[in-house]
Amino acid sequence: MADEREAVNFIHQIIDRDLESRKYGDRPIQTRFPPEPNGYLHIGHAKAICLNFTTAEKYKGKCNLRYDDTNPVKEDTEYVESIEADVHWLGFEWDGLFYASDYFQIMYDCAVRLIEKGKAFVCELTADEMRDYRGTLTQPGKESPWRNRPIEENLRLFKEMKEGKYQDGEFVLRAKIDMASPNINMRDPIIYRIAHATHHNTGDEWCIYPMYDYAHPLEDAIEKITHSLCTLEFEDHRPLYDWVLEELDWPMPPQQIEFARLNLTNTVMSKRYLKALVDERKVEDWDDPRMPTIAGLRRRGYTPEAIRDFCDRIGVAKANSEVDISLLEYCIREDLKEKVESRMVVLDPLKVVITNYPADQTEMVEIENSKERPDMGNRQLPFSAELYVEREDFMEVPEKKYFRLYPGNEVRFKSAYFITCNEAIKDENGKVVELRCTYDPETRSGSGFTGRKVKGTIHWVDARSAVPITVRNYDYLMIPDENGENQLNPDSLKEFKAFAEPGLAEAVAGERFQFFRQGYYIADEKLTTADHKVFNQIVNLKSSWKK
Ligand code: ATP
Ligand code: MG
Repeated sequence: MADEREAVNFIHQIIDRDLESRKYGDRPIQTRFPPEPNGYLHIGHAKAICLNFTTAEKYKGKCNLRYDDTNPVKEDTEYVESIEADVHWLGFEWDGLFYASDYFQIMYDCAVRLIEKGKAFVCELTADEMRDYRGTLTQPGKESPWRNRPIEENLRLFKEMKEGKYQDGEFVLRAKIDMASPNINMRDPIIYRIAHATHHNTGDEWCIYPMYDYAHPLEDAIEKITHSLCTLEFEDHRPLYDWVLEELDWPMPPQQIEFARLNLTNTVMSKRYLKALVDERKVEDWDDPRMPTIAGLRRRGYTPEAIRDFCDRIGVAKANSEVDISLLEYCIREDLKEKVESRMVVLDPLKVVITNYPADQTEMVEIENSKERPDMGNRQLPFSAELYVEREDFMEVPEKKYFRLYPGNEVRFKSAYFITCNEAIKDENGKVVELRCTYDPETRSGSGFTGRKVKGTIHWVDARSAVPITVRNYDYLMIPDENGENQLNPDSLKEFKAFAEPGLAEAVAGERFQFFRQGYYIADEKLTTADHKVFNQIVNLKSSWKK
């Protein structure tokens, strides 16, 4: 971890150097977050967002939000809206909000200049032929027979491509670089293609679209980006990025710097895969609480603080690696433990009858709102002869070291009394349906009783005042199979018809609590109504994360 935290500086070291040499003159440091609006943002994007925005902040620079919307078919306004909501929710404010598609005319004009310089040509090889001509990692490619087409003819054809005279795939515009380059990206890459498709921003204005490797450096340059931070898979594309701006004599061109993508255990982060889960209804939607999307994490109950803390802890490295998801879970526990109050909820209820407690009496017992924060005060809970406990807290034949309820054993009911289990009542199938217990009035919590000790403390709710709620516990959406490949976990959602202490009837959507002994929960923003509360498990209480 220490190594990685230090590595944060590798980008900042480059910026420090550039500031010292006044590489960008008086310009402010300018970064950007450039999502393609073809899906919802995920936790990997959060890493890129935090890096770009906090780098700008550190240098009193600027950070833009830019939609990298040069591919007309996969993009959608719904995604545009979700991206803005997610960046804001994480706590960042962009300086400029731009669409790459607003630069289509400039990009077109730049392509014309490349043609005029003899640096681009219109090619009519088919896709298959082009693959054959490209060569391999060990063999150089072959030059296209159209490579030396006269400039005038290139200009005419490119203009006609733009005017819609040709079908998709009939022609492409290619950069004229080097078919023998050891870097395949430099072997006369395609920079424009024909696509008769309606674009979410420009409609039917264009039927030719620039390729990513050509468009991206121009988008950065137009916005006067100084440092263009992107993930490692673009390292081999950097020579092309630089080539485009150099051939266009762009002054003070931006510098691309690559960092490692975030990979998380038990998590798949490809937008394509996540979209398939949504489309095939394997999850509720993009904001299903099991999804690694920002919207999913938000609905799950994660806080922006926890996600930013996580991004800070993982740092920025030059080499790809996989981060243990338990670190993310650690961060949300750390954030919530001093913020939220505790409540008593029984997920899988088993009835308890206290046979020596007056049948029609109810008394109030006092319980602390937070173990971590005594200043959060106490509240009163009803206690009577009929209670619910967790079915898990009873064993007819106890295992070794089981200190909870079993016939003959005495335990503490949290903030109430010592209670002894005497008898388990079963139905005709042998299932335990009720526990007969007795309480010791001397042992009332807060009375100063020191007569004897018990090993177990369990939670409970008063049966007569309990509020029925729905509780959703989650397991990882993805679990590795025997080959270590992530597969969809069929048991990622477990729903409980639970009983809660009376106050939870007042919970409002988005409110978070610790459920005593269970974990952290949030009232679901979509499913919670005035009459019925649905809670999502944010995270359990036990940490498997080792510092
Ligand atoms: P996906 O593969 O999930 O579709 P993408 O890279 O195509 O993701 P973009 O919308 O192009 O998604 O990403 C916007 C920015 O976020 C890019 O700069 C990209 O490098 C960065 N990014 C995407 N995924 C990750 C990740 N897992 N870790 C860090 N940065 C990421
Ligand atoms: Mg991408």
